[in-house]
Amino acid sequence: MNILYDDIQFLPGVGPKRADLLKTELNIFTINDLINFIPFRYIDRSKFYTIAELVPAQAAVQIKGRFLRKQTSGIGAKAHLKALFTDGTGTIELTWFKGIKWVDSSIKIGVEYVVFGKVADFHGILSMTHPEIEELQKFNSRPQQDFIGVYPATEKTRKANLNGKVMRSIVESAFAKIGTNILIETLPHYILQELQLPNLETTLRSLHMPTNLNLVSKAQFRIKFEELFWIQLTLAIRKQNNNRTIKGFQFFRNNDNLLPTFYKKHLPFPLTNAQIRVMADIRKDVESGKHMNRLIQGDVGSGKTLVAVLAMLMAIDNGFQACLMAPTEILAQQHAQSLQNLLSDMPINIALLTGSTTKKVRAEIAEGLQNGTINMIVGTHALLEDTVQFQNIGLCVIDEQHRFGVAQRAKLWTKNSTQPHVLVMTATPIPRTLAMTLYGDLDVSIIDELPPGRKPIRTAMLRNSQRQKMYALMREQIAQGRQIYVVYPLIQESERLDFKNLEEGYQTITQVFPAPQYKTVIVHGKMKPAEKNLAMQQFASGEAQIMVATTVIEVGVNVPNATVMVIESAERFGLSQLHQLRGRVGRGGDLSFCILMAGDKLSKDGEARLNAMVETTDGFQLAEMDMKLRGPGDIEGTQQSGLPISFKLANLARDGQILNIARNMAFFIAEKDPTLSNQENFLLKQGLENRKKQNTSWRDIS
Ligand code: ADP
Ligand code: MG
Repeated sequence: MNILYDDIQFLPGVGPKRADLLKTELNIFTINDLINFIPFRYIDRSKFYTIAELVPAQAAVQIKGRFLRKQTSGIGAKAHLKALFTDGTGTIELTWFKGIKWVDSSIKIGVEYVVFGKVADFHGILSMTHPEIEELQKFNSRPQQDFIGVYPATEKTRKANLNGKVMRSIVESAFAKIGTNILIETLPHYILQELQLPNLETTLRSLHMPTNLNLVSKAQFRIKFEELFWIQLTLAIRKQNNNRTIKGFQFFRNNDNLLPTFYKKHLPFPLTNAQIRVMADIRKDVESGKHMNRLIQGDVGSGKTLVAVLAMLMAIDNGFQACLMAPTEILAQQHAQSLQNLLSDMPINIALLTGSTTKKVRAEIAEGLQNGTINMIVGTHALLEDTVQFQNIGLCVIDEQHRFGVAQRAKLWTKNSTQPHVLVMTATPIPRTLAMTLYGDLDVSIIDELPPGRKPIRTAMLRNSQRQKMYALMREQIAQGRQIYVVYPLIQESERLDFKNLEEGYQTITQVFPAPQYKTVIVHGKMKPAEKNLAMQQFASGEAQIMVATTVIEVGVNVPNATVMVIESAERFGLSQLHQLRGRVGRGGDLSFCILMAGDKLSKDGEARLNAMVETTDGFQLAEMDMKLRGPGDIEGTQQSGLPISFKLANLARDGQILNIARNMAFFIAEKDPTLSNQENFLLKQGLENRKKQNTSWRDIS
């Protein structure tokens, strides 16, 4: 058995108690886990601060001096040891709540010590809790280590005094135990050489026992590279295999029938240049005989629906069925409605299938799909059910893809003996690095142009005390015949409370804008479909001027006459969500407004987000900012994706360049050796297989 997989408990300095903590708190079970548990930052221990210059801060600092006195007090859980420490420039209070006896016995008054910890300032008294201490003489006798790593910790490990000093000594004994030549390199030699990466052994040793920061940053680079590289390699191989082995339906009749008729007779407006470009991309894909797997990224309102319609007509012209899948019932209904309108005079049979479709209609749809009388179907997740079988599905369009997992996307592929072409559309502009990870195996087209005549949306942030201003704007816009959305956040954990906000908000609005002069409807996810439909229709037809709603309207709702979007407690939304909501207005030719109502407790982060919204309407810029503010893990839709996007060291908000390098390398390798069967790629093949075994989310993407 490889020594690397020995239980952590038997390392010198660990024992059963600490082993338990390491396992439950930090997920460290074996020596291998331990040496892969990497410091996330480094401290310069060659630098000593004077007490006079200390200020409370996040980072730990090191001081040198003598203990003046110490005192133990309290009993049981309240027991603690306080000691006063000085370096001649001032004093600081050091406190321990754990390991008191041991600390007490190791503090000698008058002897010089090195103290290392985080400074706090309590009513003007400087203090450190659970600092590391060491006699200066002993400190000086050790081989000097200027830089030391700071390991991730949890509240429990901190309380148990499993501090950096302990971690470092455990890690050192781990390295002592395994000696050299035990660690097996994970990357092929040619990659290390080409990118000048340190080998695994050097990497891990430099990270845990740093001798200089240059080596540390090389080692960090290697770890980050590797974290990103394995994902990119998975995506690259999948894309290669997709291109090579999966045949697609060839749509060769692209100039007959429905599509040209539509272009000639029914196209409501000329396509934008961006739409024309994307259509050309799609046409090239479907005419090639290869399987299309394309993502269309285009900001809210850029006209993706029309592109979907054109592509679906192409499929039908070639004797295939086409489907359009949307993430919410409302959106599916809207799509069905706009397809009906656009294609009303054409011989196309469009069906709608959602969770609330009745059994009877479902059966009819199932039959129509199987005998081919239905050639276009719009629906929600309901389309994925096994009972939905097509006669000959040739194209699946997935709208607002970020709401579907990769596994779901894959499921659509099995709906025909040959995989239907897949067109994925997303309006959530996501940062480029994230896109490369989430959609790294897709071809990408971008609609970077809005249809002409759109006026920029004016955005303002208002405080509660300025509510009258918002009402004034609403009144004025309604007087001009316009319509208004008022949106409330509804967040799962506190749904009842939020719901109360929504209902109260509705009450207030109906008081300020009383019937019969005004009509206000309310829409939320818990309503019966029929009620929801009625409300939506009343708003869409213009009968109701105000819609009070939750984020169910976030995606896709299209009422061009709506010119005001009021977002209550706006700080509770993420930036991309705010951007989506704002995209609901400004769809007609009229000047539109977005009012962000800030709650009374506005955090710094919240304020930064709202200011960003006021300053820019560029969705991509907002997405980048969102990722910087909240980290990639919180960007909407990433959890559903099931892809690993949080890493030990790599950070998609900051490491775009490393991601590029990893991606280029991965795609280069996949192109040359798509099955990784060359001897030089043996480690890569093995690495991917191990990852698949270990991690369910990895299984999903390959
Ligand atoms: P999204 O990309 O957000 O799905 P939609 O497809 O809903 O956008 O389109 C937004 C609006 O723009 C719709 O009202 C649509 O009719 C209109 N639109 C789409 N393409 C064009 C165009 N080429 N010229 C003018 N208006 C267009
Ligand atoms: Mg859309």
